[in-house]
Amino acid sequence: MDTLNGAGVSPGIGLGPAHVLLAEIPEPPPGARHDGDAEAEKARAYDALEQVAADLEARGAKAGGEAQDVLEAQAMMARDPGLAESVAELVGGGMAAARAVYEAFAGYREMLAGAGGYLAERVADLDDIRDRTIAVLSGLPMPGVPAAADEPYVLIARDLAPADTAVLSREVVAAFVTEEGGPTSHTAILARALGVPAVVACPGVTRIAPGTRVLVDGASGVVRLSPGEDEITTARNAAAARQALLAAATGPGRTADGHLVPLLANVGGPKDLEAALANGAEGVGLYRTEFLFLDRAEPPGAEEQEAAYRAVLNAFPGGRVVVRTLDAGADKPLAFLPPPGEEPNPALGERGLRMFRVHQEVMSAQLGALARAAAGSRAKLQVMAPMVAGTTEAEWFVRACHEAGLHEAGIMIEIPAAALRAADLARVVDFFSIGTNDLAQYTFAADRQLASLASLQDPWQPALLDLVHLAATGARTQAKGCGVCGEAAADPVLACVLVGLGVTSLSMGAPALPAVRATLARHTREQCEVAATAARAAPTAQEARAAARAHLPGLSDLGL
Ligand code: PEP
Ligand code: MG
Repeated sequence: MDTLNGAGVSPGIGLGPAHVLLAEIPEPPPGARHDGDAEAEKARAYDALEQVAADLEARGAKAGGEAQDVLEAQAMMARDPGLAESVAELVGGGMAAARAVYEAFAGYREMLAGAGGYLAERVADLDDIRDRTIAVLSGLPMPGVPAAADEPYVLIARDLAPADTAVLSREVVAAFVTEEGGPTSHTAILARALGVPAVVACPGVTRIAPGTRVLVDGASGVVRLSPGEDEITTARNAAAARQALLAAATGPGRTADGHLVPLLANVGGPKDLEAALANGAEGVGLYRTEFLFLDRAEPPGAEEQEAAYRAVLNAFPGGRVVVRTLDAGADKPLAFLPPPGEEPNPALGERGLRMFRVHQEVMSAQLGALARAAAGSRAKLQVMAPMVAGTTEAEWFVRACHEAGLHEAGIMIEIPAAALRAADLARVVDFFSIGTNDLAQYTFAADRQLASLASLQDPWQPALLDLVHLAATGARTQAKGCGVCGEAAADPVLACVLVGLGVTSLSMGAPALPAVRATLARHTREQCEVAATAARAAPTAQEARAAARAHLPGLSDLGL
């Protein structure tokens, strides 16, 4: 096994030692006993707990902000004297330290889980500390993601949750490779936001021996183990040549014949602004506000929200900033906005705008904070709602925006019903933004988080292109804008096709902007239209891609 193949979802070349994130630390066997020196075993247990606490604190100090609060609270749990006492008692009775830690934590776990509410939500934090301590005692690699390393590492995991990656930066991680996850999974989104090469849906990758040197090509999806120097040089040269071509394309997004297509950035908060500006974003096309409030037990305060919104608006004086109201639920759960009941299918449950029917006060607070942030800002604020199914919901949202003093209210098109009835919706709202990630998920009834269904999630599927065309046409009949802010916009070839389908702006993770800008600039609007027609006429995603490429000359210069 020296080559593995997956789906490249964030271009670039990454090289480093493999850090394999263990999904689970095995339970220490019940009945495991130490060799008789209880004092030495207790000391080992105390040292392990202290090592874990110190490591969490150090990671917190490096991350700063909210992640620091979370990690410091965890460090405090690891130093809890009651816990240490339980461990000491069990070890005193002859139990091995790792098992004693396991059982002492189990007692606490039960207590917290039984308390319900906020405390019950801390169970996962407690499990994390337990697993870290057992890893230290058993000589296993530490679970979780190291926030510092001597050299950037290639992070390998089954899949990554947003919380796993809170403290990561491109200085620490050379590339991501996951066994699961599709092109629209959060690993892919995060990788593109950080500008780190990434490959997802790569079978067998978690079996790589930790420490193996790995070369990751985030464009082709090829993962090479223990590569030779020549191979590394060739990969780096190709990446550098491509980089030079991309850097040469600057200015506003436009086709070769001058048709303007604003190129905007997807951001999750003020921390993403630097990359957006550095990559020449003309504004923000999707501000995923829920990313500000992951891991919160309480709704964020009005002033904190206002400040986060103002920071993004102020980065684009004269530009456009599209803010999406909280999209809680399914793949983006927010502790302070839980679904009202048990949900067998969270992606089909109370999520997005639907959640605000139950928590209207949260919507009012967010719209109010947005209106205050916009007052005095020179950016043009547009607010949109996620997961809108029809005109009743759209009218309700637009009314709420107007009542809050917000003038431009739009919706995301990510439910097939909305695309099918785009002409009706375009009469009600000021603009559309197509969320191709969810639109693909719902069109093909294929969970976006399941790697095994990644081919159904492919935004090149002609059925999805048909829905994009319907939405863009519906918007045009009412002279309204129709952007795309799903990951489809970040694929430079597909971006041309989207423009050919009538899409008026494209928003993506900032590092994707240069390649999309350069590709659009090489093709006329007519070429984009011809490519779009050819893609829609094809029977499969693969054939659609090939058909479009045949009408878009000049892709190979860009390494596409
Ligand atoms: C989408 O669904 O395409 C989208 C942009 O929203 P998110 O990925 O945040 O669900
Ligand atoms: Mg969505």
